[in-house]
Amino acid sequence: MGLFSFFKKDKEEQKEQLSQSLDKTRSGFFSKLSKALVGKSTIDDDVLDDIEEILITSDVGASTTLKIISNLEERIARQKFLKIEEIYNVLEEEIVKIFSKEESDILDFEVSSDKLPYVIMVVGVNGVGKTTTIGKLAYKFRTAGKKVILGAADTFRAAAVEQLVIWSKRAGADIINKGMNADPGSVAYDTLAQAKSKGYDVAIIDTAGRLHNKTNLMNELGKIKRVMSKVLPEAPHEVLLILDASTGQNAIEQAKQFFAITEVNAIALTKLDGTAKGGVVISISDQFKIPIKYIGIGEKIEDLQMFDKIDFVKSFFRK
Ligand code: GDP
Ligand code: MG
Repeated sequence: MGLFSFFKKDKEEQKEQLSQSLDKTRSGFFSKLSKALVGKSTIDDDVLDDIEEILITSDVGASTTLKIISNLEERIARQKFLKIEEIYNVLEEEIVKIFSKEESDILDFEVSSDKLPYVIMVVGVNGVGKTTTIGKLAYKFRTAGKKVILGAADTFRAAAVEQLVIWSKRAGADIINKGMNADPGSVAYDTLAQAKSKGYDVAIIDTAGRLHNKTNLMNELGKIKRVMSKVLPEAPHEVLLILDASTGQNAIEQAKQFFAITEVNAIALTKLDGTAKGGVVISISDQFKIPIKYIGIGEKIEDLQMFDKIDFVKSFFRK
């Protein structure tokens, strides 16, 4: 098999995997929609009311839903009679519009040579999938031929450290681990010092996520960042906020709380598989300027993708 066909196959498999992970969101959405459309021939106000309710109950969120509905209304005013069969295409186009305003910065796990070692600090509430996502990210970067080191700076829970050690082995990445209760700042410092002196391409730092103790968390994340910038003034290059898609609109609230605590440059949305709340992707893209960069679509090491909004909408509308 040639290299090109290898990548093409890989891309097809990824789309299939994405499509499968959206099964629950898709079937919830389309079964509600087809029920609402029974006996209708044109897209009228009743249909719009139903669509509004369906979007909101699919976790698209009130303000994003209103935007979609008012765009639909304008369109109907312009085009007069829109046949009911057209609703799927029209909705797809309107959702693409919501996504298309933000810029894509998909790099396919490449790191520019002036940013080495590339430092990612991972933040988020306990249980959202930080450690798992770090394992998957490490694996993707390793697969792309990068030398990767992890920092076990969530030292608050014993399980967190042990889990990261397991992921580092699976991914073929190295790890700085000083055990539970070690100072997170010193773990981060040592990770970056090693990354710099031993020529690593990527360093990924795990952190604790005790959001109920906001001041402590803010101080801790601030300290980790300050310590890292002593080794590498531009570190961290990326503060990656992990959000759990299965919590629906709560993920939006969580994100807002984190934005108040620390700077965030990218979002990873986990657990899109097995939830019917995938509509939250649309809501996050619309409401925040910070891009969704990765999506988690399963518990296995290969279940992470770079987020591509067009692929996302397409695979949502076409199984
Ligand atoms: P942390 O506390 O933020 O570090 O979260 P963990 O990485 O420990 O993950 C918590 C749970 O979520 C684990 O059981 C993971 O297997 C699960 N998990 C993480 N990401 C995904 C995902 O994309 N899909 C599914 N189905 N489960 C996930
Ligand atoms: Mg963890």
